[in-house]
Amino acid sequence: MRNRILANGAAVLAIAALASAGAGGDEPAAKTSRGRSAAPQSRGPSVVKTDAEWRQQLSEIEYYVTRRKGTERAFTGRYWDHHGDGIYRCVCCATPLFDSRTKFESGTGWPSFFAPLERSVVRTQTDRSNFMVRTEVLCRTCDAHLGHVFRDGPRPTGLRYCMNSAALIFQSRAEYEAEQAARSILETEPETEPAPDPSKGEPGTDEGPTPGPEEEPAPGR
Ligand SMILES: [Zn+2]
Repeated sequence: MRNRILANGAAVLAIAALASAGAGGDEPAAKTSRGRSAAPQSRGPSVVKTDAEWRQQLSEIEYYVTRRKGTERAFTGRYWDHHGDGIYRCVCCATPLFDSRTKFESGTGWPSFFAPLERSVVRTQTDRSNFMVRTEVLCRTCDAHLGHVFRDGPRPTGLRYCMNSAALIFQSRAEYEAEQAARSILETEPETEPAPDPSKGEPGTDEGPTPGPEEEPAPGR
């Protein structure tokens, strides 16, 4: 009977401890007094540069297309008639955007794809410029204007991502895959040095008494 009372008392203590830990464990709200340090969940681009920085990084046509929502003239870009096997990255932030396996001959004079590499790498918004209603495609990472998407594409999606060559930079599949492999190895390596192995005792010493489980706490504490 006494044991049961003790057990109940311990349970009550444990619950009280948990409750107080919870009450005191609340983190103060993150300070977001400056817009720049806002939470990473915000849906805005994660790569943000000044206009001057983009101008310095990009060629004239790349800047005009990606940062000024321009369009290269048909049949003039570097990729409308490009048939390499590989990946097309964003010219601004290098995010992989399209796979050559989804590229098709649209006859438009612009590189055309029926799907992005992953749905999440691009975003779309309604574009009402030039007296048309079109769906603009942007790089989600840096907000670069890439082109437009239309619903007259081939199977399996029926979509036609009509892109500007100037917004893309091609990388061969071999190079891309080697880079991915290297990255995955680097990401799985431990970041800290391994802790010394406690099982490696000094050679020649007898095994000491293994520490047993802690003794039961004395009742009535
Ligand atoms: Zn980008």
